[in-house]
Amino acid sequence: MKKYYCFHCDKRVDCHIEEREITLTVKGDAITVTAKRAFCDECGNECYNEELEDILFEAVYKKYRDRHNITTPWGDARTRLG
Ligand SMILES: [Zn+2]
Repeated sequence: MKKYYCFHCDKRVDCHIEEREITLTVKGDAITVTAKRAFCDECGNECYNEELEDILFEAVYKKYRDRHNITTPWGDARTRLG
């Protein structure tokens, strides 16, 4: 069990991981991926987790690149998209 920061509880809390469908927009394209998200065991709100954010963004940009046949490495794409 990992502890993450919950903004709702304003402290670090035990979180459970659930898979959710997340849709992000990349340059006007809606990209939907299934990603692991952390939820507070105490209030049920989603907790911010840098590690999971990175995994989510990587999955989204990979899908975007696959869709557009872009072979640019992830690092470059991230810099360009800010
Ligand atoms: Zn909480």
